[in-house]
Amino acid sequence: MPRQKCIALIAHDEKKDDMAAFARQNEAVLSKAKIVATGTTGGKVLEACPGLDVTRLKSGPLGGDQQIGALIATGEVDLLIFFVDPLTPMPHDVDVKALMRLAIVYDIPMALNRATAENLLDFATD
Ligand code: PGA
Repeated sequence: MPRQKCIALIAHDEKKDDMAAFARQNEAVLSKAKIVATGTTGGKVLEACPGLDVTRLKSGPLGGDQQIGALIATGEVDLLIFFVDPLTPMPHDVDVKALMRLAIVYDIPMALNRATAENLLDFATD
């Protein structure tokens, strides 16, 4: 049997509510996967969908983004959904670049906005 897919979720700043809404709308598909998320994002997703299998890592600024990067490097993440907030200044810029770089290096699908995330979900949970 193929292993269960793992989806990583991160949302910055005002995008956290969007991530919760995305999770609610796609709960059925997400429930087929294991989810890893940065701390606050994971909390919001669990509040919206308590039945999902969400592992909450550290909050992003405390290293959660890099924990997800490490999981990408060890081949454990099949899809990265990363809602960066484009309307804030760039306090997370280094984290965004680091994770995008790893997603490119390890050639995993990566969604930076909701439209792409919706399109990649089916693919990632087949
Ligand atoms: P958070 O981390 O989900 O814990 O807020 C994401 C981030 O801000 O990098």
